[in-house]
Amino acid sequence: MTAAVFQDGRMQASENDSEPPARQLPDDLRSVGPGWHPLLLRLHERLVAVEPGYRVERVTEKFGAARIEVTTTHAEFRDLISDAEQESATTCEFCGAPGRPRRRSDADRGWIKAVCDSCHVPWSQHLILIGHGEVWRKPARPQSAG
Ligand SMILES: [Zn+2]
Repeated sequence: MTAAVFQDGRMQASENDSEPPARQLPDDLRSVGPGWHPLLLRLHERLVAVEPGYRVERVTEKFGAARIEVTTTHAEFRDLISDAEQESATTCEFCGAPGRPRRRSDADRGWIKAVCDSCHVPWSQHLILIGHGEVWRKPARPQSAG
């Protein structure tokens, strides 16, 4: 097979320009809390080193850990992603401090989230929550006197 070289500046038909650019982890940070953004960006660096054009399908939070779905043919991705998911379970999704999956007030039932000790209290009291990749705080109500 010989490669065609055009001397007159013509180019071969380019890649399909209507294809949207691949969505990658930095484009999907809003799906989870800011405490997890650094580990997702570290994962992104590792994935790009293997496959620059990798494509992320979905980043979600489930049972206190990140779930990262990526389209790839590279087997290495599996371990890299699994490491990051495990790291997320021990990283506070609010602030990034060391944490663990807990329920509000450590109840027997309810939503599970990876939180550190200091975020567990306001989260249990519904004073902080995560939305659009940010921490939202309710103004603290003064203790009712009596
Ligand atoms: Zn925290």
